[in-house]
Amino acid sequence: MAHLNPARIGATPQTLPPLPFPAAALEPAISAQTLGFHHGKHHKGYVDTLHKLVAGTDMADSTLEEIIFATSGEPDQEKIFQAAAQAWNHSFYWQSLSPAASAPKGDLKSAIVRDFGSHDAFNTALTKAATGQFGSGWAWLVAKEGKLSVMSTSDADVPFTEGFVPILTIDVWEHAYYLDWQNRRAGYVEAVIDRHLNWDFAASNYAA
Ligand code: MN
Repeated sequence: MAHLNPARIGATPQTLPPLPFPAAALEPAISAQTLGFHHGKHHKGYVDTLHKLVAGTDMADSTLEEIIFATSGEPDQEKIFQAAAQAWNHSFYWQSLSPAASAPKGDLKSAIVRDFGSHDAFNTALTKAATGQFGSGWAWLVAKEGKLSVMSTSDADVPFTEGFVPILTIDVWEHAYYLDWQNRRAGYVEAVIDRHLNWDFAASNYAA
């Protein structure tokens, strides 16, 4: 079970946030069609499922983080955990993406060089985590006690129940890339890492 304070991670309501950019803003890496389905069907589906599962329970008004901590590792709560964690992961994923290419700056840039050796070595490590995740899941840049690392999680799993603070994520479920890249997950991952990671969002997570 988790020991982190949910307040340290945030307080995300059980709602579908709007995409933080127009649906066509990430083309050609991610098409408007993919984003439309991904946000409007998949992400919305997780939020809607969660609402049905927690209606009338003491989790009805809880934040996603509170629900995730309360249900993580509890087999009889697995459906609630999966819906809440997928809702959280997708909200974090949209914020991890940026229409314009950017680069890490300041403290985060220094920490990447300190912990990975270089920005290229970080890119290689994140690419390996994203392409190497077997089946559905997520690739992450995370921090623990100030030290950066990359990891992948399976299905709906989140890093913060294990004490890792999320900095950035890439969705590597097939629904994230199959319309645009067919089975070439590596092409999608390379395009996102090269041009669409939101390093301003990453910096705000690292500073917190
Ligand atoms: Mn997804």
